[in-house]
Amino acid sequence: MPNIDPALWRDIMAYLRKRHSSICRQWFEELEPIDLKGGLLRVNTSNGVQEKYLQSKCLDQFNEAAQSVTGALIGVRFVSGRLTADKSVSEDPKGLPEVTITAKTPPRPRRSSSPSDFDAEQMVLIPDNSFENFVPGPNNQLAYAASVAVASEPGTAYNPLFIHGGVGLGKTHLLQAICQGILNTKPDTEILYVSCDAYMNQFIECVQNKQMNEFRDRYRNVDVLVIDDIHFLANRDRSQEEFFHTFNDLYQSNRQIVLSSDAAPGDISDLEDRLISRFQWGLTAEVTKPGYETRVAILRAKSELRSMDVPDEVIAYLATKIDSNARELEGAIVTIQGHANLQGRSIDMKLVQEAMREPVAGSKHSQVTLQHIIDAVTEYFGVKLSDLQSRRRHKSVTEPRQVCMWLARKRTRFSLEEIGGYFGGRDHTTVMHSIRTVDAKSKKDPNFAKQVQHLDEVINQDTGAPIA
Ligand code: ADP
Ligand code: MG
Repeated sequence: MPNIDPALWRDIMAYLRKRHSSICRQWFEELEPIDLKGGLLRVNTSNGVQEKYLQSKCLDQFNEAAQSVTGALIGVRFVSGRLTADKSVSEDPKGLPEVTITAKTPPRPRRSSSPSDFDAEQMVLIPDNSFENFVPGPNNQLAYAASVAVASEPGTAYNPLFIHGGVGLGKTHLLQAICQGILNTKPDTEILYVSCDAYMNQFIECVQNKQMNEFRDRYRNVDVLVIDDIHFLANRDRSQEEFFHTFNDLYQSNRQIVLSSDAAPGDISDLEDRLISRFQWGLTAEVTKPGYETRVAILRAKSELRSMDVPDEVIAYLATKIDSNARELEGAIVTIQGHANLQGRSIDMKLVQEAMREPVAGSKHSQVTLQHIIDAVTEYFGVKLSDLQSRRRHKSVTEPRQVCMWLARKRTRFSLEEIGGYFGGRDHTTVMHSIRTVDAKSKKDPNFAKQVQHLDEVINQDTGAPIA
């Protein structure tokens, strides 16, 4: 029995729903407070994926909620697994008690030789991106079916599985669903899920630090290797060479490889022929734009996940108006949720039309998409989208990237998290920093201010009529 007053937990959840509705999900209902001891509120999650996600993405909001509700300095700690009767609690250097949990299956020992960055670069899985939350449709049927097959029999069904298609069409979602599907049934499986960018960064670092043995040990000893946006490998000769050997090693020992890309293997420019042919050895599946029925189903799925009550006519309206991709559909749901919560109103056509029509930060137009911004910025600065989404920190890339983020924040409905995610998996603090940098520079440097203003005008000219 938890030694915590159920009313306290209810208040914390109510606070989150009121103040931080954008992070709240239906599955939060399953979170269970364990105890409140020594200023630490421990909360049990259903699995390790939820635990890591909450701990890394939602901790600030939970801490704030716990502190506001209790009026005391309370820290929240998410845990998962079966709790032992004797929970040992010791102090870690940051002063937060360390909780010992015995997982159902003991985790494998960590590789002592791996540089710690390997684990840091491993991407956090988002519990939302599961098969249950994925809407299959004619636009993604093969990719979906193959992903399910791979998750149930990794290394046997389709190897490699190569999913390709445009932005916001569910590639990352499927990759993460595969990882979660495997972990659900075989929690012991060693999965390495990284962005192509992280792969290349680690490679370069290991070359520089003469740690190639560690690099190979890390990448060639996993059961499942999942790399998102593999098209970034184009133009990187040495990374391609290394990846070729990694691929061969894993493939020959029947380990599963899953890749996503913005283009089919043969259409990725500057990719070696031997890699193209290997990528085609297994199954190549394309995801395309969702049709009307799928858009309706995606809108429903997204609103259910956020426990939102959205009338059918609103869903139909949005599915008609937004025909680009699932990311935009989700963006609309998030905007509407924000408006409804802020104004304490329920969701109806009137609210939705206001929310969708609302000029963004003084603009007469509301249909600016990320694509408009990217087109304008990449053309103006002569950079590629892949540079903007990469980890590169050269000024020739950081400046246009910061301008993109600034424009995206000003002209679109996307949240800081979404913008950061799009521009290379950066977090919301990076986006905030970018926005401040652009503001500060505009004040100091009139030329720069003119450039930004010019881009803003170009984007507005490119934009069509308001959505409603
Ligand atoms: P990509 O990697 O192809 O650019 P993502 O996988 O990041 O796209 O998808 C963008 C957003 O749209 C995510 O929030 C994802 O959950 C959602 N999404 C895409 N396709 C679907 C789908 N078929 N069903 C449910 N959600 C989807
Ligand atoms: Mg993606």
